[in-house]
Order: sequence, then C-alpha cells, then structure tokens
Amino acid sequence: MPDPLVALDPDEPGQTPPPRLSVRGLTKRYGDELAVEDLSLEVAPGEILGLVGPNGAGKTTTLRSIAGILPIQHGQVLVGGYDIARDEARAKSQLAWVPDDPQPFDSLTVAEHLEFTAHLYRVSDWRARAAELLELFELTDKRDALGGELSRGMRQKLAFCSAWLAHPGVVMLDEPLSGLDPRGIRAARQAISDLAGSGVAVVLSSHLLELIEALAGRLLIMDRGKAVFTGTLAEAREQIAQGQASSLEEIFLAVTEGDDEPERAAQ
Ligand code: ATP
Repeated sequence: MPDPLVALDPDEPGQTPPPRLSVRGLTKRYGDELAVEDLSLEVAPGEILGLVGPNGAGKTTTLRSIAGILPIQHGQVLVGGYDIARDEARAKSQLAWVPDDPQPFDSLTVAEHLEFTAHLYRVSDWRARAAELLELFELTDKRDALGGELSRGMRQKLAFCSAWLAHPGVVMLDEPLSGLDPRGIRAARQAISDLAGSGVAVVLSSHLLELIEALAGRLLIMDRGKAVFTGTLAEAREQIAQGQASSLEEIFLAVTEGDDEPERAAQ
C-alpha cells in the first residue's frame, strides 16, 4: 500500500497538502452520557490547532479517541491518511500523544524510554537527537533516573522528548505546560512552535487561552461535546465579536456563556 504521506508530497508545487489529521463525525458516549457529538476537524502539516472548551466539554475524550485509546463508536479518524480503526498500527506510527499527566514506565530510565521510543517509531541515528532533546528540556542530569523517580514536571518533559524524538506527522498535546517550571514553560512554548515550523500537525489543548492565542493558527472551541466555533481568531472576531478587537478569552466567554441558562430559566 502506498504511504499517503509520500504519495501526496506537501512540498510538491501546486499541490495543496492534505490534512495530516482528519476527524469526521466523531461521536462518543459513556453509557448514557454523550461526551462528543458529531465532531469534525482537520489539521494541516505545520498547523497548530488550538482546542479549547469548558471543563467537561469533551476535549480529552476527543484526543483519546484520536489516539486510539478509546474505541471509535461513530465517525472516522484518519492520521496521515490511515484510519485509526482499520489500520491502527500505521495510523499510530504517524501520531504522538502527550497526555496532561504522562505516566512513564517505572522500571525504565529516561534514556531507556528514548531508546524504546526510537525503536518503536523506527527512528534511525537517534542518539544525537535524543541528547539534544534532553538538553533542551533540561533532563540531561536525569538520563539514568527511573520513570518512577521523576517529578510531575520531569515526566512531562520526558513525554515531550519522546514525542519530539518520534517526530511523527501529528503531535497532540493535552495541557502541555501544567507542571512545568518557568524555564520549562519557556522551552516548551518555543519547542511547540518549532515543531509546527518543521511541518508537524499539532493539536494543542489547553485552558491557557493566552498560550492558544500566541501559538494556534486555528481554533476549535468545544462546548458540551460539540464544536461551537472552528476558524482563525480573526474569523472569530469577525463572526462573534462583529470585527471588534477581542481577546480569545472574550470570544471564549461569548460562545460558551449560555451554559447555565437552562438552570437559571428553570428557577
Ligand atoms: P476538562 O477541561 O475538565 O479536562 P474535557 O473537555 O477534557 O474536560 P472530558 O474529560 O472529555 O472533558 O469529559 C467529557 C464528558 O465525558 C464529561 O461530562 C465527563 O464527565 C464525561 N466522561 C469523561 N470520561 C468519562 C469516563 N471515563 N466515564 C464516564 N464519563 C466520562
């Protein structure tokens, strides 16, 4: 089978690069609870999609479904052109996912995690890159520490190193700055921007709207399992704030502000 990433070369002049990540009509229920409803999104190579929404909006459920951790009940997820439900191994080989509280293996060292990742994603000549990433995320002096010995922020940094080392077509980040110290935050912000600059499609989920505003080229605002806005911040200003200069925070509050109205109306 041809590799879609190769067959449709994004660098080919005159070709619009196909989305690296495509989600169509994703619906997920937990029992009677409808967590995600008919959600569609696309992320192009080099693009950062900012995923935002109130607590319980369905963001993590969406990311876990895309990552193949939750089975797809309805809809389709294509990663690098491969269907996560039908071609799971190929789709996952194109994807790295950094959850908000990464849990490394207790019995592997930091260096062994990177070796494991390099083998899993078949990265050749990975040692120099791994050393660079450990330096970038200030983990060099922890290279022989076991996963179980790492602090929360260090686990986050190790997950970044692994995702960056794998260098797949799509990287999904769930609250990537939580747990990081100020220096780590600065390094991570720059690294996320550089990752997209290298052509990776990035999904960035965070409640830090200033981070999303600074890094994301396009937004997906979710509320109660549904997409309530998809587009650029400029489009959001046009459609929601009638062209007035509004921060993402003001737009977020405007599109999600009706949440407690049914309860209020019932009182
Ligand atoms: P937050 O911003 O608080 O992390 P979120 O947008 O990531 O929220 P989800 O964690 O995807 O939201 O949750 C969406 C809905 O699904 C919520 O109503 C939540 O209670 C429900 N839910 C999430 N995980 C489960 C689960 N394992 N079992 C049952 N319901 C769940």
